[in-house]
Amino acid sequence: MQQISPNALRVLRTLEERGYCAFLVGGCVRDLLLNRPVNDWDITTSALPQQTQESFEKSIPTGIQHGTITVLLEGESFEVTTFRADGAYLDGRRPAEVAFVPNLQEDLARRDFTINAMAMDARGEITDLYGGREDLQRGLIRCVGEAETRFSEDALRMLRAVRFSAQLDFSIEEGTQRAILTCAKLCEKLSAERVRDEIEKTILSRNPAHLARMIEWGLLTAFGLRGEYELSALGNVPAERLTRWAQAKHMLPQLDLSMLRLEKRAVRLCTAAAELCTVMQTELDCKRIIASHGWETAQLTAQLCGMEQVISRIEGSGDCVSLAQLAIRGGDLPELQGAAVADALHRVLEHVLQHPDENEREHLLDLLHRGEI
Ligand code: ATP
Ligand code: MG
Repeated sequence: MQQISPNALRVLRTLEERGYCAFLVGGCVRDLLLNRPVNDWDITTSALPQQTQESFEKSIPTGIQHGTITVLLEGESFEVTTFRADGAYLDGRRPAEVAFVPNLQEDLARRDFTINAMAMDARGEITDLYGGREDLQRGLIRCVGEAETRFSEDALRMLRAVRFSAQLDFSIEEGTQRAILTCAKLCEKLSAERVRDEIEKTILSRNPAHLARMIEWGLLTAFGLRGEYELSALGNVPAERLTRWAQAKHMLPQLDLSMLRLEKRAVRLCTAAAELCTVMQTELDCKRIIASHGWETAQLTAQLCGMEQVISRIEGSGDCVSLAQLAIRGGDLPELQGAAVADALHRVLEHVLQHPDENEREHLLDLLHRGEI
């Protein structure tokens, strides 16, 4: 098993020395047991937020209403949260109140899946009240408690189930899966940002095609996605954020990236690349796309159709691919007015895209004056 981060250990020990209980909890325990890289070290403690703050030199009250203090140690940050049990769920989205309860058991009971509901103390002792270790071994995503109840409390858990199954290559336990089908409609209430994050983690995982399950099981109907799809080609493009979103948009044209609150630049680039990849086949196509849409769009498009090397070659060649690089400008055409100038320059650019050696001022003006362009 990999080692606990030394600074995380220091946080646990500091709290223990002051008489509190403190445990690593959630994803980091799961990932330690799986020998996977740990994203963030979350800590749960009996110390109240103020007591946690008093125990460390540097801390930020990041989510004081949820009892979360971010402790900073040697440039690393740790979210330290007071043991909690969530209050009633009123609208299927957020706990209405958070009660601080001095009890690890309650804290673990509110967690989503058995594999995410384990705690580990500074000595490596694991508290596993729901069979998390066994499910890790079997490769199963299973709700803590009664699945339908848990999904009614927070519908995001259904998307998280699919996301974790994609990331970890796990199956979803039968009862949990049945409850997803029953509760799917509750996902309509979720905020777009939370849904987007789960889709993104899924399409960047080793099983990006699991996005099809989210759609088939009716978890994304609020975003106009329903029906059966075969999305294995999502895995054919590099596992980079914009590339995978662009490929998803290409395979699912009805996917509304603005509705999912992707930032404007991502929406623009991914939407353009998703369309353009059907017309990028030759070097000349690449050049035309660079000229009309710019390098960024062309590069992303190239990733979707395996033309990255062609784009690099064009970049290295220094060939003219824009009006700015053309050997003539508007001022060289005093005989033309208004739109006719732009029109002529674009015709000349297209000629130069096809004949890269001919980007010379006199030659181009000559061709223009002779009416050959
Ligand atoms: P990642 O590697 O993506 O960070 P993670 O398991 O750490 O995975 P987080 O979203 O960071 O997931 O949440 C940390 C922990 O908090 C989870 O392991 C789980 O115990 C709990 N948790 C997070 N979201 C929920 C939720 N919607 N319902 C119940 N428990 C949750
Ligand atoms: Mg995490």
